[in-house]
Amino acid sequence: MPERPALVVAIDGPSGSGKSTVSRRVAQDLGLAYLDTGAMYRAATWWCLHEGVDLGDGAAVLAAVRLMPLEMGVDPTAPSVHVDGHDVGAAIRTPEVTGAVSTVSGNLDVRAELRELQRAAIRDQASPRAFSAGRGIVAEGRDITTVIAPDADVRILLTASEAARLARRAREVHGAADSSSLAATRALVVGRDKVDSAVTSFLEAADGVVTVDSSELTIDETVDVVLSLVESRR
Ligand code: C5P
Repeated sequence: MPERPALVVAIDGPSGSGKSTVSRRVAQDLGLAYLDTGAMYRAATWWCLHEGVDLGDGAAVLAAVRLMPLEMGVDPTAPSVHVDGHDVGAAIRTPEVTGAVSTVSGNLDVRAELRELQRAAIRDQASPRAFSAGRGIVAEGRDITTVIAPDADVRILLTASEAARLARRAREVHGAADSSSLAATRALVVGRDKVDSAVTSFLEAADGVVTVDSSELTIDETVDVVLSLVESRR
């Protein structure tokens, strides 16, 4: 089996930049696998809560994460997350998990553990028997372009203005972007990014990483920009 898949696309960026939706669409278009690394941190958080682990106890969290029976489904048309046989796709998106995930992802030992799982998931796509049959993968998450896959063929920082990101999340969560839903969304978007940026760098593009600003773009337009970047690097 080759050491690496034919194509690795890495996309990071702040909350509300559209990275999950865009990454899935790009993976679908190119027949690639899709890895949502944020979902792995969410699954780790769900698992610790489920196991009754005190999130303030870093060593206990690490021990639990090491034993987590995690299975990531990488089909971009139906990405899935299973822990110990439970489908936790919905459970990992609850406000409880969203509110606690930064505590788990701020644990550097947990990051080292998940980093290896993420690298293995990318490497696995080199196999002809893998979902993408060796074609490759789009992997997204806050430190993908810098720490996990700095050697990816295409590295993109997907950004958008704070106002655009807030409005998108408010519409997603509350169905409208009026002043009360914007205020309620602020902590989820701006607050979480601030906490996360203590351990990951996703607000500025590192060397060799192309910035795509989606503030004024629709999802379709953003997907087209990413696809043309991929095309230009092939
Ligand atoms: O992207 P999503 O909102 O699902 O990510 C959930 C959380 O996982 C982030 O707020 C961050 O704390 C953590 N994360 C991370 N590194 C990644 C992906 C996500 O620390 N590569």
